[in-house]
Amino acid sequence: MRFSLQKLVLAVAMIVTVQVVLYFWKLNKPKRTRNIFIMQQKLEEQVKEDGSCDYNKCNPVKDGMLNVHLIPHSHDDVGWLKTAEQYFTGEKAMSDARSQHSGTECVRCVLNTTIPLLLANPDRRFIFIEMAFLSRFWDEINDDVKQKIKQLIKDRKLEIAIGGWCMSDAATTFYNDIIDQHTLGFDFIDQHFGKCGQSRVGWHVDQFGHSREHSSIFAQMGFEGLIVGRIDFQDYTDRHEHKKMEFLWKSSASLGSKASLFTHVSYDGYYAPRELQFEGRSAGTVDASVQRYVADMMRIAKERAAVFKTNHLMFPMGADFAYKKADEWFANMDALIKHTNLRQADGSKINLLYSTPSCYLYHVNKEKQTFPTKSDDFFPYAIPPKAYWTGYFTSRAGLKLHVKRAGAMLQTCKELNVFNRLSNAFDKIDVLKKAQGILQHHDAITGTEKEHVAKDYNHLLSEGEVQCQSVIDEAYKMMLPQTSVKPPQQEFCYNLNISECSSTENSKQFVVNVYNPLSRHVTYWVRLPVSSTPYTVTDPNSQQLKLDILPVDDKTKTLPGRKSQAENELVFPAKLSPLGYGSFYVKSTTEGERAKTHKTMDGEEFAIQNEHIKVSFGKDGILKSVQNIKNGMEVKMEQDFYYYIGDTMMRPSGAYVFIPKFKDPTKVRGQNPVKVKLFKGEHVQEIRQEFSHWVSQIIRLYDTANYVELEWQVGPIPNQGYEGREVISHFKTDIKSEGHFYTDSNGREMLKRTRDKRETWKLDVIEPVSGNYYPITSRMFIQDDSRDTRITLMTDRCQAGGSIQDGAMELMVHRRLFRDDGLGVSENLNELDVDNKGITYKGKHYLFVDTKENSAELARDMALELHLPPTLSFMQTTKSYSEWTDLYNTKWSGLRDVIPPNLHVLTLDQTRKGEREIYLLRVEHLYEVNEHKLLSQSASLQLENLFESFDIIAISELSLGANFKTNEVKRMQWKTDDGLLTPEQIGSEQNTLHLDAPFNIILQPMEIRTFHIQIYPRS
Ligand SMILES: [Zn+2]
Repeated sequence: MRFSLQKLVLAVAMIVTVQVVLYFWKLNKPKRTRNIFIMQQKLEEQVKEDGSCDYNKCNPVKDGMLNVHLIPHSHDDVGWLKTAEQYFTGEKAMSDARSQHSGTECVRCVLNTTIPLLLANPDRRFIFIEMAFLSRFWDEINDDVKQKIKQLIKDRKLEIAIGGWCMSDAATTFYNDIIDQHTLGFDFIDQHFGKCGQSRVGWHVDQFGHSREHSSIFAQMGFEGLIVGRIDFQDYTDRHEHKKMEFLWKSSASLGSKASLFTHVSYDGYYAPRELQFEGRSAGTVDASVQRYVADMMRIAKERAAVFKTNHLMFPMGADFAYKKADEWFANMDALIKHTNLRQADGSKINLLYSTPSCYLYHVNKEKQTFPTKSDDFFPYAIPPKAYWTGYFTSRAGLKLHVKRAGAMLQTCKELNVFNRLSNAFDKIDVLKKAQGILQHHDAITGTEKEHVAKDYNHLLSEGEVQCQSVIDEAYKMMLPQTSVKPPQQEFCYNLNISECSSTENSKQFVVNVYNPLSRHVTYWVRLPVSSTPYTVTDPNSQQLKLDILPVDDKTKTLPGRKSQAENELVFPAKLSPLGYGSFYVKSTTEGERAKTHKTMDGEEFAIQNEHIKVSFGKDGILKSVQNIKNGMEVKMEQDFYYYIGDTMMRPSGAYVFIPKFKDPTKVRGQNPVKVKLFKGEHVQEIRQEFSHWVSQIIRLYDTANYVELEWQVGPIPNQGYEGREVISHFKTDIKSEGHFYTDSNGREMLKRTRDKRETWKLDVIEPVSGNYYPITSRMFIQDDSRDTRITLMTDRCQAGGSIQDGAMELMVHRRLFRDDGLGVSENLNELDVDNKGITYKGKHYLFVDTKENSAELARDMALELHLPPTLSFMQTTKSYSEWTDLYNTKWSGLRDVIPPNLHVLTLDQTRKGEREIYLLRVEHLYEVNEHKLLSQSASLQLENLFESFDIIAISELSLGANFKTNEVKRMQWKTDDGLLTPEQIGSEQNTLHLDAPFNIILQPMEIRTFHIQIYPRS
């Protein structure tokens, strides 16, 4: 090694400089460093200015020819007929006798056989989607294979598409769960493959319809485009006829053109053309019948070219779990490409190439064509005719709720970890993150998996929750003590919704900690199962609370498997600070109020009311009207339970599709009146309604609430042989909705729906009920524009819903079906309880009536509160209240400043092990444009001193997926038929590379801004 004098001088100079810098740094230490963002990523590859890495590594196309891009891929569900782990390893499931491919699916085998074949031929390409599987594979392979995969990715031979933990469902998922599951996958990619491994393309080929919000999320992540596989057959026909298979999806009116996403509708799903399906066909098959295969290829290419605008076609070359013997595919595709292209010498204008979705988009974009636009979504999805895939919006209502509850606990975990800077929480939280990532899959949260797979999903979530609970326990050990005395361990109750909790019902004295994961003040109504003695509850400010003790509902008590002796529920309001906890000290006493007794309402009209709202009931015990007392607005309303009889004929109603046998549903109670009990407490009034032996409901009015809570309990749905039942809660009102209603898209933006109509194509109404059903992830409403009156219904999980008659809304709460719909799962949606009878579910709806603007505000607030409710944990103690408060803090808030009411901290999370001073922060604007006069305005927030336990000393703005700095990404520009040119930039228009302290950020309506923040802990 040569070591020149010049270099020596340079080295000495550098050492001196470092010493000087260190000296001054020590002198100035308390001031902290500012604006020097030390977390600069070390990139293995140079990201090009447009964030694309290098499209030159795409296989070349031929100008003037029809270029057929063959996209080799394997569609690998993260659980469906088998569990995710069974699919990975190839292990057979119990039900494999009826499973597709006889249960031989094996993702490990796909990767094992594909990688050497990609290395063997530089032209070959392959795409891989699910990081849940790739990370599982990564954990078991040696360094040599890892290096080979890294090189393949670097050379674009192996391309990661989407890059999320799974291919998430579009209908039933909530927006922050979608974002989180992608960030989890992107983080894995970043860790092992660098920026050039990151995906810039969506591959949504198997979702049962496609949501606009998901498209908007992809655009905000910097994606170049989206490939979708399943759209309604009528829409598909229309797009074929008018060459609209590719278009610009205007995904958000609020975000404008930067939320536009180029979208490609696959010609024939994600399977290779039937004639060119090589799974199970040995290498040499094409060589043995060259003429036939080339002729098929050319014919199919010409057919498809007729409906696309450019000289490029995309042929997905794969199938479910294909490429287990990858040679079957690659050897035959090699031959097909070779022989088809040889025809060019004879004048053929068809050119075949191995390609990837991003290379396809790159070449399509280069043609500078203009494309049509679309602003609505792809729900509901029907194929074949009459088979509307709207049943899965409700299927497996229990699993859907579990995903929501686990998500709320995950949010709590992440925040408490950051505030307390815990040393070993990352891996524990990762368990729940990964479980939640898997559950977003399009055969997981959808409820379209087999029963044993659903059990596995529940198990994965529960394992994650246990890990999360230990993080929460650790956090409270940091937050609670005022002295060195450690607090008791946190206990958790899974089954509070069925009034079961051993921590409360077997204890005379305990403390309940209630953590609020929202960056806003919240009043949460705590309901705890207890024994029958009187109680006192002391709040975090040492005030004894007014409380209610109500008997546990009779119907709840009869739930099979409920392990509780609790006779009563203790009810009190917990007023909680933003991102903070409050401790409530609960003690049984000998004197005081015992449980309220009820009054039976028998054939008389009656009403309950508080200062905001009056709810009236008829003689038959049915809800008859809701009045907003503050503005006098009254809506006549009848709420009742009905069921549709699932069709059992040619195409039965099943896990995927909802096909009612008759248009009109049957009233559960028939002509019978509803049995009603009325309870009037200090805080809450309850109407307990019994519609039949299997349907009941509690309608609640809390004293400060401006909404009505309706807690339904449905099941066991009677077994009538083959006749399935699909149960709805139906609200008939006098609102003049004129065919219009509004539903949310993944819990974020609202979409206007018109009965029997689609925005971009003419609907031939075949199925008047199911064809008007949409996913209600968070809320739906109808309104009377002339009266400025809106009635809103909120849900606690995704459900199917629609407005089948003017003025009416219905939500499907539960379904039990005794036939399979023949669309893949091959199992009846007949969930059984521990007593082997049909399962019973409980859930909540929330209802309010107000002006359009007030309703928008309340709905935005409630949507957050329902999606991320507080996490409750319990501590047993024998200490007196004063002894307790001498030792432990009773409240804490992670937020120092108040956040404007239209903004919210969406994410606060640790980034990766070893980088404890760098966190991930997302702030969102909660309102759409024109939704509210004041709250739809832009809003600003100062980040520097926002949080209690640390200051922010540097920030770096990222794409929504947190995998690129915003200035690293430039998107392809697309031109629409109406003259719009989509922008290159992503992120906020206010974005600057290095924002200066105090880091004032501005958010426009519906904007989510994502940052890496560098923090300096406060002592
Ligand atoms: Zn799938």
